[in-house]
Amino acid sequence: MEKATILLVEDEESLASFVKTELELEGYQVIWVQDGRAALEAFNHGSITLILLDWMLPVYDGLTVLRRIRQSSDIPIIMITARSQTSDISMALDQGLDDYITKPFEIEELLARVRVIIRRLNQSKPASHDYQFGPFHLDLLKHQFAVNDQAVHLTPKEFALMLALMEQPGTVLTRDDLLNQIWGYDFDGQTNTVDVYIRALRNKLGDYRNLIKTVRGIGYQLEANHNEA
Ligand code: CA
Repeated sequence: MEKATILLVEDEESLASFVKTELELEGYQVIWVQDGRAALEAFNHGSITLILLDWMLPVYDGLTVLRRIRQSSDIPIIMITARSQTSDISMALDQGLDDYITKPFEIEELLARVRVIIRRLNQSKPASHDYQFGPFHLDLLKHQFAVNDQAVHLTPKEFALMLALMEQPGTVLTRDDLLNQIWGYDFDGQTNTVDVYIRALRNKLGDYRNLIKTVRGIGYQLEANHNEA
């Protein structure tokens, strides 16, 4: 899964650099800007997953930024508010704010709120283009496959086979399932075709070849090695 990018809009430098560091430790990429206009520019630039938005900001305040962004996007926004704004928060929620946290806050609480939203985003993604299983990473859009971040070239059939396995990790796929899915129902070649391709695929996986398990008499399955090194 790709790293989430968080746009942090906060003009208090010490707070911002603390929050930025904590988010980065959690594995997020962070873009930090200090005023409302820069926030809109960074947002328009694209590839932001979530926005952490301070309310009181130079140029445009957080509420203005929220309204502008909501005209075109439902990107998750968590607002950072001071106590004095809590009475206005229901208005912001009405305008599409997802969540808020009141200063001063515990960093763990902020991180938890971010995590909840990111998890929800990942679950609601209709169709993934990105599959991860242990050391394997398959990017459907770029048609790339990598083992531990090292690109591994797969033929189109090997790629399709890997995709089928990675779409349903832990599920046993029968030879017929795989033949139908990858070669098509009217395929009239050898029944051991799947085995031949699985062997070729395993040869490209090096030390991780055993993550593709043979389920005797049935088919194949992608499964984590719990007992083996
Ligand atoms: Ca502020």
